[in-house]
Amino acid sequence: MESTVESRSSSNPENPSAEQIQEMMEKSRHAQASWAELSSQKRAKKLTNLKEVLIHHCDSVVDLISKETGKPKLEALLLEVVPAIHSAAFYAQKSPQALKPTKVSFMNPIFKLKKSYVRHEPLGVISVISPWNYPFFLPWVESIMALVSGNTVIHKPSELSFAIANQIQALFDEAGFPKNCFQTLLGDGKAGAALVSAHPDKIFFTGSVKTGQSVLKKAAEQFTPVNLELGGKDPMIILGDADLDLATSAAAWGICTHSGQTCTSTERLIVQESIAPEFEKKLIEKMKTLRVNSKDLDKTDLGRITSDAQKKVYESQLKEAIDQKSEILIGGKLIHENQSHEPTLIKPSSKNLSILKEETFGPMATLQTFRTLEEAVDLANCTEFGLSASIITENLSLGEELAAQLQVGSVMINDVTVAPGLVEAPFGGAKKSGMGIKHSTEGLKSFTKMKAIHRPRHESLSLKALWWFPYSSLQWAAFRSMVDLYRSNWILKVKALPVFLWNLVRLIKKDQRL
Ligand code: NAD
Repeated sequence: MESTVESRSSSNPENPSAEQIQEMMEKSRHAQASWAELSSQKRAKKLTNLKEVLIHHCDSVVDLISKETGKPKLEALLLEVVPAIHSAAFYAQKSPQALKPTKVSFMNPIFKLKKSYVRHEPLGVISVISPWNYPFFLPWVESIMALVSGNTVIHKPSELSFAIANQIQALFDEAGFPKNCFQTLLGDGKAGAALVSAHPDKIFFTGSVKTGQSVLKKAAEQFTPVNLELGGKDPMIILGDADLDLATSAAAWGICTHSGQTCTSTERLIVQESIAPEFEKKLIEKMKTLRVNSKDLDKTDLGRITSDAQKKVYESQLKEAIDQKSEILIGGKLIHENQSHEPTLIKPSSKNLSILKEETFGPMATLQTFRTLEEAVDLANCTEFGLSASIITENLSLGEELAAQLQVGSVMINDVTVAPGLVEAPFGGAKKSGMGIKHSTEGLKSFTKMKAIHRPRHESLSLKALWWFPYSSLQWAAFRSMVDLYRSNWILKVKALPVFLWNLVRLIKKDQRL
């Protein structure tokens, strides 16, 4: 496989032309027709092959992810490769059952003679457009969900992760997926926009809110369905009863894993006033111990900041907070020689700071306090984002009550950041964090169109429907008396039944339908 990977350039190539993208689209459509004809068991078998191929190349894939993104090797293993292997195993096992037609049962007695079910059919060609922060796991899981559901995929990776994208392509090729079922389109944002314009059957976009909005706009013009997985500003609520050791370890990891460049990074700490001083002291102690080093990714806790553009966002948020006299509790400086940022904690001076409203995407969080639970919920919900949240408490029932009030897609109680890796559960954002879900067996439905099929239970039951032409007073009497069967009052309901049956029999016996 190495030769396949090496034979593809990892330097930024020219963007492909619209004609080349159209050609890829045609190849993908052609491949989809025969891929969709395979049984879901046969498609699932390919996922098992893919999983085995990835296990075989695990170490080299981890090295490449770590090298191209600058994240510690352990993070490349734990947060990219392990969930990729697990997701392939999960969908290989669960998809055949999940994609089976589902039965419909009718409450209305006049439809009882029907046998109805829903087919979960593939959509066609799915465009997976992915970001740089999890360049392996994100396109991988979306692509396998699309493929196992009978679609083909064109993956457009971030311009910052072409080598990883080429590696993914090589893994799919080695696993024996039929030609053109999975293709990689290397290019920048313009290539992404051109792919959207090439009329795929669905766009699975993961990235920033700004780009997501432009994708949605274009997709609306051409009526292309879209799933959007966008940014976050995740809160962590720490209740007064929390185990402070657990709470501060969770906060340190939530803020600093992948140097804060995770969509579900903790960016806002919301701490109950009674424990705030002790929480703050302990968290600072722990953050001080974190190693920051982008040179040796085997021996560090925080690696490199991957994107220069995001670095500028981080720095401008920090500068504004400092200019507005916010208190820097720890950190606050860019470690230039290591291309990393220090773990940073800020007590904001005002609610209007962009650090409280915009995604940061660096190892930096704010610390705010609350007295009442209502205040905590209001603070947590007060941004335009709604990706995920975490709650730290010893009272799990109270944690669940609060979780129900948060306007987000996932809530982790006594855990943090890990939700996108829990592929058995649906994942997707609320508010500006996105639309639609992925993961879980329900998430497979995002890659299918549901078609309802209604047929008579038996050939002998292929009868003219009672409501067909010509309209008559017998039809009126039967359907008007049916309305009373929906009454909530049981006495009225029971009284209505014989009237309805009488009218129904008269209709069936006497009415002469066309
Ligand atoms: P981005 O929006 O800049 O780019 C994402 C992808 O879109 C890239 O492949 C890019 O080339 C492409 N693109 C750019 N312009 C395009 C256009 N006009 N049309 C189509 N495609 C276009 O995002 P990024 O900086 O690569 O990623 C970071 C963002 O992704 C953060 O906001 C992060 O929160 C978000 N993210 C969200 C999730 C989630 O599951 N919700 C997961 C990971 C990352």
